[in-house]
Amino acid sequence: MASQDTHTTTTDQLTLQDPVTRYPAITPPEQSLPGTGLDAEMTPKADLGEHSYRGTGRLEGRKALITGGDSGIGAATAIAFAREGADVVITGLPEEEKDAQHVKEVVEAEGRTCAVILGDLRDKQFCKDLVAQAVEALGGLDILVNNGGKQVAQESIEDIDDEQLEATFDVNILAQFRLVKAALPHLKPGASIINTTSVVTYHAPEVLVDYSATKAAINTFTKSLAQQLAPKGIRVNAVAPGPIWTPLQPSGGQQPEDLPEFGKATPLGRAGQPTELAPAYVFLASPESSYVVGATIPVTGGMPTP
Ligand code: NAD
Ligand code: MG
Repeated sequence: MASQDTHTTTTDQLTLQDPVTRYPAITPPEQSLPGTGLDAEMTPKADLGEHSYRGTGRLEGRKALITGGDSGIGAATAIAFAREGADVVITGLPEEEKDAQHVKEVVEAEGRTCAVILGDLRDKQFCKDLVAQAVEALGGLDILVNNGGKQVAQESIEDIDDEQLEATFDVNILAQFRLVKAALPHLKPGASIINTTSVVTYHAPEVLVDYSATKAAINTFTKSLAQQLAPKGIRVNAVAPGPIWTPLQPSGGQQPEDLPEFGKATPLGRAGQPTELAPAYVFLASPESSYVVGATIPVTGGMPTP
């Protein structure tokens, strides 16, 4: 029987395999992780690619800043970027330090640099300082992955207080805007900006009205900015994940009673694992996608997108 501990997965992403069974169709128990949640505390564990992602030299010498790189999709992206030859800065909240240190260990085991910068993306000054500190730590910046995000499911719009509403917009869209502005003076032709949007841009669940609005905003922001920056040789694109097993979900992103069915309604019949997103970010970061501008790559397990 397939193990619920998907950390045991060691088959690399380039080996021919059946996408239905590459990972087990997990049935996460009902759980409510405090705060933004930790990868370290999820049941079952998620696969960040530690034992499986195989690099092929596609980001040799590149310098990347990845927000929310402590856990989930951002962590899997950081690990993949390092295996492709990049140095990385990852961010998270101070209470996510444990997850961030795990990613740092995995990246450093590849002989790459991983600086951890902790702070709150709602804070305008932090967004500015973050870019300056990342540039200093890496000696420049080629890739910005705007991935940090906040999702809190609520039955009714009346349950969404101002604090949740503003925090969701601040973290998900306003921080992306501010980080791009701060990063722009450092980006040279060949640089890549990648924003994490979501399948909810197209299929907005009734319990995610605030979050879905921010994800649609990110998608449109990406399309507009991409046209503006293309003549400068800076490509802007987005990735739209479907249901992926990350700390976002058991920390309020889904209602706890919905967790056992999480991802099962997709055509592949299972939730995605964070490392299954990483190749899309690697592709968009690498020069091989030179003619891909203003695109949104869906990684949804088959949930249709326009
Ligand atoms: P995750 O919880 O592992 O990552 C999100 C990260 O956002 C956190 O680790 C945290 O560091 C950061 N963050 C949240 N609030 C913050 C704040 N106030 N200040 C600083 N950082 C903050 O979950 P994930 O699913 O990997 O999320 C990554 C991105 O993927 C998010 O933008 C999310 O909206 C998007 N996404 C996720 C799914 C999914 O099913 N998991 C689906 C579509 C889109
Ligand atoms: Mg986290």
